[in-house]
Amino acid sequence: MAVKALKFGGSSLASAEQFKKVAEIVKADDTRRYVVASAPGKRSAGDIKVTDMLYECFKAARKKQDIEPYFSKIEQRYNDIISALGLNFSLDEEFEKIKFAISHHVGEDYTASRGEYLNSMILAAYLGYDFIDAENGIFFKENGTFDSEHTNDVLSEILKEHERAVIPGFYGSMPNGTIKTFSRGGSDITGSIVARAADAEVYENWTDVSGMLMADPRVVNNPKVINVITYSELRELSYMGATVLHDEAIFPVREARIPINIRNTNAPEEHGTMIVPFADKPNENIITGVAGKVGFSIINIDKSMMNSEVGFGKKVLKVIENHDVCFEHLPSGIDTMSVVVSTSEIDAIREDIVNEMFRKTKADFINIEDGLALVAVVGRSMVQQVGTAGRVFTALGNAGINIKMIDQGSSELSIIVGVKEEDYAKTLNAIYTEFVKD
Ligand code: ASP
Repeated sequence: MAVKALKFGGSSLASAEQFKKVAEIVKADDTRRYVVASAPGKRSAGDIKVTDMLYECFKAARKKQDIEPYFSKIEQRYNDIISALGLNFSLDEEFEKIKFAISHHVGEDYTASRGEYLNSMILAAYLGYDFIDAENGIFFKENGTFDSEHTNDVLSEILKEHERAVIPGFYGSMPNGTIKTFSRGGSDITGSIVARAADAEVYENWTDVSGMLMADPRVVNNPKVINVITYSELRELSYMGATVLHDEAIFPVREARIPINIRNTNAPEEHGTMIVPFADKPNENIITGVAGKVGFSIINIDKSMMNSEVGFGKKVLKVIENHDVCFEHLPSGIDTMSVVVSTSEIDAIREDIVNEMFRKTKADFINIEDGLALVAVVGRSMVQQVGTAGRVFTALGNAGINIKMIDQGSSELSIIVGVKEEDYAKTLNAIYTEFVKD
């Protein structure tokens, strides 16, 4: 039987009203059989997520304070949902067990995980689906990393025993049975793990936006939704800060070549964004998206006759490595080499780096320039299209923007330009309007 795996984020399950929308979506398609749930998120801008309330509760217990005032607010959130849905169902026993555990100093991860655990129990009761506890099917290794193969073996067997089920997101168990969570936003990862274990035809990730946007809406006015994006393009854009999904969520489904569909719980009629292993159609705008980040520095190293000095680059990178700094780009000229790094990584050690670099490379001149923004123009269709780079540079030239650095990966999936931070917004807008016509 065909199967789809779904994940609903915190805002999609923040209130009874949202639960009703979720149930309508699930019931609209018989193949929507496995549902991963987040903890209740914010109902409005000033609201607090249940996960954050649980972390507060844990802190209070650690300080040996009475947790009742904290926990009763959490109980209230769930009880409000249960009663507004008219469910003949109570979590009172669970609340008692959890309160006891928290006040007896059970771990922080266990405490935080109860947000999804309780919400999934309600959703399972409301949908009439089975409840599968993630602690029995999602595993971490002794060193705390996710154990993908053991998980996939066990979870796929568990799913076979349940035709329809709700699985809490965000956590699994350690080899000794204690609960461990993924990093924040980790229910996206659980959804992907479940999709792989179920061999789903698609992983539908339901959230509160209608897909991934071509540019940051805080910088570019009303950017279009990306209809189709490949996993590799997504990696490039999310590395530059354009996120719609937890970074690690793509790995399980990518391995199984299952597409991800980002959908909006509040606008289910919209198709959202499809994230696919390979796209057969070129992109109508040539570029798929544009994203960027501020806060970079360039370390410039000049040395005459650098071009004929074998091993020069190695010496430069060794100094960077000695200081445990990751480098982003390495543009070079005949007698110059530059290393682009995040300013926050070098701020406290910049003098040490420059001094060691002088000693090791015998350079003529070294300086560090701050205030650089990096902007990535990403698109699988740029490979087939002559002149894309030309269009990027012309658009920036026409907008009066000085390009400080250019890098194009050999895959031709992205062109990266470095500009001054004050030109960041102008750069994104100039590129977006060059490629996207209304
Ligand atoms: N509830 C967790 C968080 O707020 C996990 C999730 O929603 O994905 O980070």
